[in-house]
Amino acid sequence: MAIIIDGKKVSTEVRNEIKEEVECLKAEGINPGLAVIIVGDNPASQVYVRNKGRACEEVGIKSEIIALPAETTEEELLSKIDELNERKDMNGILVQLPLPKHINEKSVIDRISVEKDVDCFSNENVGKVVIGSPRFLPCTPAGVMELLKRYNIEVAGKNCCILGRSNIVGKPLFSLLLAENGTVTVCHSKTENLSEITKNADILVAAIGKPKFVTADMVKDGAVIIDVGINRMENGKLCGDVDYDAVVDKASYITPVPGGCGPMTITMLLKNTLTASKIQK
Ligand code: NDP
Repeated sequence: MAIIIDGKKVSTEVRNEIKEEVECLKAEGINPGLAVIIVGDNPASQVYVRNKGRACEEVGIKSEIIALPAETTEEELLSKIDELNERKDMNGILVQLPLPKHINEKSVIDRISVEKDVDCFSNENVGKVVIGSPRFLPCTPAGVMELLKRYNIEVAGKNCCILGRSNIVGKPLFSLLLAENGTVTVCHSKTENLSEITKNADILVAAIGKPKFVTADMVKDGAVIIDVGINRMENGKLCGDVDYDAVVDKASYITPVPGGCGPMTITMLLKNTLTASKIQK
């Protein structure tokens, strides 16, 4: 039976550390602040934005949620970002994705000052991650790395396999695992003989968005299983990309869904906001 990696517990630990640091910064007269822009009324985005605001409050970071109507033009959004780029009291700026179809997401992300890009989505910040001198760490991949670290799971020299090559999870996680000297393979929908590759992995990360896709026969005995996937089943419950009940007996460590990687993403956003306020100090 695997050790269950408790993302909620680790997240609470990290948030407590952030809270202490925020208090120290406040004593020096620095008040970290995060601006979150949401355009339109996507219900899932509204929940994410609310959760981000609450998390900020919990650790003493000031947050400002800017809710704009779905008809907002790209120009209007860009000028809002320009305004926030100038504000000294907002150290981080985050634009909740997805944006309405008439707005070009890339142009919007790249308008955010690189020192305030706490999602770490801009070309420059992504590039800095790739070359190994990050300004910020991409939130979900950084959450994965923090879980590995807090459970003393060694990455160096290990075969790491990532399922999924998205810009927000798979690709940046590749850079972070590589930076820790893992031997990293990234798989995607065109990968052939997938289970031959996954069965060779000491650390297997699933980030594809397909419920219970990773079955026990795809996993090496004693592997570390990190499940980034969040899928809603027909019964309304959440499940990951890993068939947890079948894999838990084969793995050495495993993250549950919910309660594994999920809680870490916002925590890493808080950490980036703290970093931003220190950079801008
Ligand atoms: P995307 O849809 O952007 O990317 C999915 C990736 O999975 C693609 O690279 C795709 O390959 C690959 N893929 C799809 N089917 C297969 C397959 N059969 N075999 C191998 N690879 C496959 O997803 P995201 O990265 O945004 O999200 C992935 C999951 O992680 C989702 O469940 C999402 O909800 C969750 N998530 C969780 C977060 C958290 O906070 N814990 C944060 C972000 C995401 P190809 O490129 O070839 O199409």
